[in-house]
Amino acid sequence: MILGCLIAMNVLPVVKSRDLLFESKCSSMLNQASLYASSLSTLNVLQAEEVGKVMNLMDDQRLSRVFVTDREGRVVYDNTALQDDGAENLAPEGEVELALEGNNVFRSELKAGAVSSRVCIPVMSRGSIIGAVYLYEYDTAQAALIESLRRNLLRISLVTAAGALLVGLLLGYLISRRTRSILTGIRGIGAGRYDTRISDRGVDELGEISGEVNLLADRLQQIEGMRQRFVSDASHELKTPLAAITLLSDSIVQNDGMDKATVREFVYDIGREAERLARVTQQLQELTKMNSKARELREDVDLGKVAEEAMKMLLTLAERKDVALSSNLTEKCIVRANPDDLHQIIFNLVENAIKYNVSGGKVTVLLYRLGDSVQLVVDDTGEGVPPEKLSSIFDRFYRVDEARSGEQSGSGLGLAIVRDAVLKNGGTVEASNRREGGMRFQVSFPAAEKNRK
Ligand code: ADP
Repeated sequence: MILGCLIAMNVLPVVKSRDLLFESKCSSMLNQASLYASSLSTLNVLQAEEVGKVMNLMDDQRLSRVFVTDREGRVVYDNTALQDDGAENLAPEGEVELALEGNNVFRSELKAGAVSSRVCIPVMSRGSIIGAVYLYEYDTAQAALIESLRRNLLRISLVTAAGALLVGLLLGYLISRRTRSILTGIRGIGAGRYDTRISDRGVDELGEISGEVNLLADRLQQIEGMRQRFVSDASHELKTPLAAITLLSDSIVQNDGMDKATVREFVYDIGREAERLARVTQQLQELTKMNSKARELREDVDLGKVAEEAMKMLLTLAERKDVALSSNLTEKCIVRANPDDLHQIIFNLVENAIKYNVSGGKVTVLLYRLGDSVQLVVDDTGEGVPPEKLSSIFDRFYRVDEARSGEQSGSGLGLAIVRDAVLKNGGTVEASNRREGGMRFQVSFPAAEKNRK
């Protein structure tokens, strides 16, 4: 583009000024020739002597050559020494012939550092052509002006081209260096080195890309850490009951004389451990399901109905533990969420409230609107959780007191599932100890758009 512009910048002004010069030459020389012709038109016949007299009165300072021919094209006046050579030699390209036929002829060209212009017009007397006037001008001053314009333009163009080339090369080098560093970073992250970061601090688009890639790497590093912790926690959680099962079954096999009652006890324990394994694997499955495609779908759900269903499923457990279940559910508390996630949240919270309650205790589920949000509260009358441990109970595999919790069936994944499900559906969850004893879990969801006041 720059090259195109430079070529145009070099050619167009020179051509334009040359054309303008030719135009002005044409008009001034035609004027002068007309002046000669009209002076000569007073003569009836163009003869050397009379023509010489008339022409001597004229100013032909600027002109290199002036000659006049008669009707037959014979030169009757020539201001240079070259006379009587015949019209053909003096007027090349038949300009005199054209003029004698009644035409005004003008030719101009820029060549060899000079503008040479020729004009030839007929001399008329009483309506008929009696000869022709031929003027020739050889102008080096104007040609020098055009030449200096051309040279200056060329100089400016060369400097501009060199500058553009230099800036282009420099910019190209800088951009390619930064692009290469970004690529190296991305390749490193792609190869699993999540601690790789791009050091580009630019404030342009490349800098923005680097920042985004670094954020992505942060997230990947975080996820990778979580994955590793999860795998190690999960395998530890699976290993414990497996080790107990192996130990118990080995004891039975190696101890021939074991009494029936002890064998029964051991087999019962094996059964309990197997149940624990089944629970952990089922909860793990639940966690992975959370990210499935089906769980991505959201719809407007009446939270009260979901709470009723979940509580119905826990009635048997509540009766077994001698815990009273009660609820106060406001109607039409609609939230936009995945119904399976909502069921899982309420089920896990109410199940815990029953499990960690005391015999004869109570569980209350409340549902109400607060501004543009829907609040779900699960209260119990159990022992609660020591305040310093409250922040950990949502962690995967965390159980407050293994000895105490161990009496209750659990995997330490129930609340982690609750937290993931709540966050995924745009809500928040908080746990606290109630002043009157027991725990309170409070879940808040934004009310569905159509359900807002
Ligand atoms: P678990 O399968 O052990 O119940 P959770 O993730 O559901 O796992 O809960 C984690 C821990 O938090 C439990 O082991 C328990 O110690 C404590 N916890 C949860 N809910 C309650 C509650 N309502 N009252 C007292 N402690 C609770």
